[in-house]
Amino acid sequence: MALSKLDSLYRTLVAEHSRHPHHQGTLSGVEPIQLNNPTCGDVIQLFVLKDEEGRIRDISFINSGCSISTASASMMTDLVIGKKEEEITALAQDFSDLVQGLELSSTDQLGDAAFLSGVAQFPQRIKCATLAWNALKKAMEVNEMKGK
Ligand code: ZN
Repeated sequence: MALSKLDSLYRTLVAEHSRHPHHQGTLSGVEPIQLNNPTCGDVIQLFVLKDEEGRIRDISFINSGCSISTASASMMTDLVIGKKEEEITALAQDFSDLVQGLELSSTDQLGDAAFLSGVAQFPQRIKCATLAWNALKKAMEVNEMKGK
């Protein structure tokens, strides 16, 4: 089977994000959310800093895991800075649908993360791709409980 252009773009983007992840590191004064994906061995610690309006002011992660999980975390952190909780919930749902192979009306809102749609062909990798997003959802819930 010949590699389609989209396939090679997907590979390039995943390789780039996993080799040089964006927003990797810790945020001082922020307690991380840790999640793991036992089927692959991926572990992530996510640091989320929100402003008073509930928008994400800054976000970072440290992780150990496969290239899909690292690339997905890198793409996700690029995407969610400055976004509000409702926007994040919608993006997380879109991303979850995408990697499960569902048809989205548009994938523009997902930025580079849209290229992880190829993961749908590898069901055992879906959890790698959604790990960072699940950590983000958990971080939003925890902050909610602490905040008010
Ligand atoms: Zn993985």
